Amino acid sequence: MSAKIDSLLHEHRKFAPSPEFAAAADASPELYADATHDRLGFWADQARELLHWHTPFTKTLDWTNPPFAKWFEDGELNVAYNCLDRHVLAGNGDRVALYFEGEPGDSRAITYAELTAEVKRAANVLIKLGVKQGDRVAIYLPMIPEAVISMLAVARIGAVHSVIFGGFSAESLRSRIDDANAVLVITADGGYRKGKISALKPAVDAALQSGDSSVRNTLVVKRTGQDVEWNDRDLWWHDELASVEPEHEAVPFPAENPLFILYTSGTTGAPKGILHTSGGYLTQGAFTHKNVFDLKPETDVYWCTADVGWITGHSYVVYGPLANGATQVLYEGTPDSPHTGRWWEIIEKYKVSILYTAPTAIRTFMKLGRQIPQKFDLTSLRVLGSVGEPINPEAWMWYREVIGGNLTPIVDTWWQTETGAIMVSALSGLTETKPGSAQVPIPGITIDVLDDDGQHVGYGNGGLLVVTEPWPAMLRGIWGDPERFKETYWDKFEGTKGAKDGPLYFAGDGARLDHDGDIWLLGRVDDVMNVSGHRLSTAEIESSLVAHHLTAEAAVVGAADETTGQAVVAFVVIKLSQAEEASHEDISTLLRAHVAQQIGAIARPREIFIVDELPKTRSGKIMRRLLRDVAEGREVGDVTTLADTMVMNTIASKMRKK
Ligand code: ATP
Ligand code: MG
Repeated sequence: MSAKIDSLLHEHRKFAPSPEFAAAADASPELYADATHDRLGFWADQARELLHWHTPFTKTLDWTNPPFAKWFEDGELNVAYNCLDRHVLAGNGDRVALYFEGEPGDSRAITYAELTAEVKRAANVLIKLGVKQGDRVAIYLPMIPEAVISMLAVARIGAVHSVIFGGFSAESLRSRIDDANAVLVITADGGYRKGKISALKPAVDAALQSGDSSVRNTLVVKRTGQDVEWNDRDLWWHDELASVEPEHEAVPFPAENPLFILYTSGTTGAPKGILHTSGGYLTQGAFTHKNVFDLKPETDVYWCTADVGWITGHSYVVYGPLANGATQVLYEGTPDSPHTGRWWEIIEKYKVSILYTAPTAIRTFMKLGRQIPQKFDLTSLRVLGSVGEPINPEAWMWYREVIGGNLTPIVDTWWQTETGAIMVSALSGLTETKPGSAQVPIPGITIDVLDDDGQHVGYGNGGLLVVTEPWPAMLRGIWGDPERFKETYWDKFEGTKGAKDGPLYFAGDGARLDHDGDIWLLGRVDDVMNVSGHRLSTAEIESSLVAHHLTAEAAVVGAADETTGQAVVAFVVIKLSQAEEASHEDISTLLRAHVAQQIGAIARPREIFIVDELPKTRSGKIMRRLLRDVAEGREVGDVTTLADTMVMNTIASKMRKK
């Protein structure tokens, strides 16, 4: 069967950056021209321009043993030096690196000089504890400056960090510690979340309780001051930092020295330990951060709301922005603590000019209503970014109108833990944007949309998104499992009669190319529905539902159906202001007709369920496989990576009552 995906939704709105914005932007069309003319030369230029190399590289790419790539192989650099010391040496030590905002309202401005000093001490602590180049260090912390400091200290001594999101359980923590054989865990007594203290250290204690792990020590940051149990292996962060020398010289490591392992979000299945290395990763992170967001390090205040436990936090809180010398906000808590305007209050307070967040957050704010952000002064914002899921055109429009004052460019950035950095996105100063489209590969990245045989689907059609050439920030493997690495990402098109020789990277996402050649993400290939022989995308039907004024959020799945093979089943969250307006029956009838009218009868949901919440991963992505279980009347599958496991119980019991 062909992998082509029928694409039905049509969106014609377009927004160019204002002439003033475009005129002041650094990115120019030459970036695309240069990258097309000499792709490897382009990346070599970027690597030299954006980073400091202790030993310059002479080779750009070694792709003789695919899918194992080496970028800038004979070059040497220190990732932390690039994010810290060199800014201080260039005279920018007094620039604020982090405006930390704790959930209870405590705040702290940390300059590049101060951040550098802290990282040097932390690096000396790691050395004192016997951590060596290549050793793995697990980091299990809230969103506090010490998370950033720990990551950079590990990078500074050439060791490898594995950041584990603070919301994960003791078991998840243990399995990740074991998978990487970590020698040290850096954690905190606790953190603040939703107005409460949430403990972290007990999970580390529980994870290490059986005693047979590779961990020698745990280093504990005092954040909340709550009581903690104390073991022989435990050391206080502040004691240790005070006990070491303040100076630490950053020595260079090879460009391919491993930088970190990060487990994917687990939206589709068991998380994979994705391995990233140094020089190529930092090059693409810095390049995209600068050009996608039009960063002006002297004047911008940038805020990426992602947790450092996710790839977005790695590349666009830590490495990209700090390599570029940016000033940024780091916020510990949740968007609704202590009130639902907290984010907008932070933007007003720090005059944030670039905001990078996820569609799930935008849709949550849509659900609550525009009167909340409208109470705050958001006029400092000049660029808005989105990442993590397809952004529905109506959510895009709301983001632009309500948050961006009808003025700001929006960049919808497609990428993955595996790609390490942004792959498909508008450049805010150059691109005429279309609501809902991620648009074009960034300069130096080559993307195609293929059918199962590896043939181009052609303009106007949907199929499978692939990356056709290796890229600097690409994953170098799955930790400890080269076979799974090949199988998962590189075997899909082997031996097909497609247009290109050589390995193609299969991203697992569906996409459509429109008639301008712009890319529209259609959702995960695993979630594509087959209705009467038509392959329909979740993203398009969800976008149609969200376009209705009653709807705040929607998730669509295919459920087995006797007549059509699969039928569309939708789960819909209604906007709070509309919730009382009509009965659920009426809303479902309305919405079914709306989808049929907007995108065609084939896409009309067989059933629509009104729910209070959708099941999401801890990084905020909709977990459709669980809804599919419910829609088909099965026992609900593995819920361990869900943010709130109760959500599925509520939905399942609602459906049983029906
Ligand atoms: P797992 O691979 O374990 O199932 P995951 O894919 O959710 O988890 P991530 O690497 O955090 O883990 O997410 C990458 C995925 O997120 C992409 O493959 C894509 O499905 C989705 N995604 C990210 N950004 C966008 C975007 N701008 N538009 C559409 N989808 C996006
Ligand atoms: Mg994935």
